[in-house]
Amino acid sequence: MPAKNRILVTGGAGFIGSHLIDRLLEKENKVVVFDNLSSGKMEFVEQHLKNPDFSFVKGDLLNPEAIERVCKDADMVYHVAANPDVKLGASDTKVHLDQNILATYNLLEAMRKGNAKRIAFTSTSTIYGEASIMPTPENYGPLIPISLYGASKLACEALITSYSHTFDMQAWIFRFANIVGPRSTHGITVDFIKKLKENPLKLEILGDGKQEKSYLHVSECVNAILFAIEKSKQEVNIFNIGSEDTISATGIGKVIVEEMGISNVEFTYTGGSRGWKGDVPRMRLDIEKLKSMGWKPAYTSEKSIRDTTKALISEN
Ligand code: NAD
Repeated sequence: MPAKNRILVTGGAGFIGSHLIDRLLEKENKVVVFDNLSSGKMEFVEQHLKNPDFSFVKGDLLNPEAIERVCKDADMVYHVAANPDVKLGASDTKVHLDQNILATYNLLEAMRKGNAKRIAFTSTSTIYGEASIMPTPENYGPLIPISLYGASKLACEALITSYSHTFDMQAWIFRFANIVGPRSTHGITVDFIKKLKENPLKLEILGDGKQEKSYLHVSECVNAILFAIEKSKQEVNIFNIGSEDTISATGIGKVIVEEMGISNVEFTYTGGSRGWKGDVPRMRLDIEKLKSMGWKPAYTSEKSIRDTTKALISEN
């Protein structure tokens, strides 16, 4: 029997990471999750604890020795760990520098020293900034992020591509639209459900509610990642992953209100075209590159939001 692939997933106890490991363990893989549980949860991975092909290491990417121990000879590293809170950069200017850039540097160094050669990275649409071309293709430029989060993820991409070239590594960079689904712990759907549970009569929406963005279900996101890795063989492989349409912030509010079975909710707006400093009001990614290879999303943004709302209501 061929040896199983040894796969390391940083951030594997988080929202997207835990769905990824569910899928990786369905195949012939040995999976190690490395996570500091800052936003990840043991309950997202505990169904695998008895699986001999799964192990969980509680550790921090800011501790180089800890990440070096698990990186050695990994056949593949999925680098999912990050601080994904876009808003936070406006009040804490160091968090994304540490949790995203420095953490990624520590991981790449551990890979270099441990002879791990393949990395997949979860990047973001925010690296494009306020793109003038919509939907935005992978070769859009110049890249002018407007949030410290977007800047940090762009810096991570640059580190990854230059390590790939310098140290003969291979990289897959995935620029996600907004990802939603069961186990979501942050983002607009989570926020709106929380607000409406606290007060079912009123929903405060940040900005003017007209922000139009693409939302993709996490199951489709994981499918796209695994599909792209299987089908692409360049030294650096960059893919947008998103849905083919958008939904507005107000539209999301309406879907959630419907799914929660409440009525007569007053929508109020904080005003302005963006929800917060660093918010990109319009986002849709061009996914022709993945489509031309044979992958396309089945769900609309609205369907993904609707399914997520149902799942989150039943989770709590
Ligand atoms: P998440 O917060 O649920 O997952 C991040 C995981 O990383 C958590 O389990 C957390 O405990 C872990 N982690 C954070 N800092 C760490 C550190 N220093 N050491 C070890 N572990 C650490 O977030 P998510 O939504 O699942 O996002 C996953 C990835 O996808 C992130 O890289 C994020 O930037 C990217 N992304 C997410 C979205 C989205 O809509 N959710 C969109 C674009 C990109």
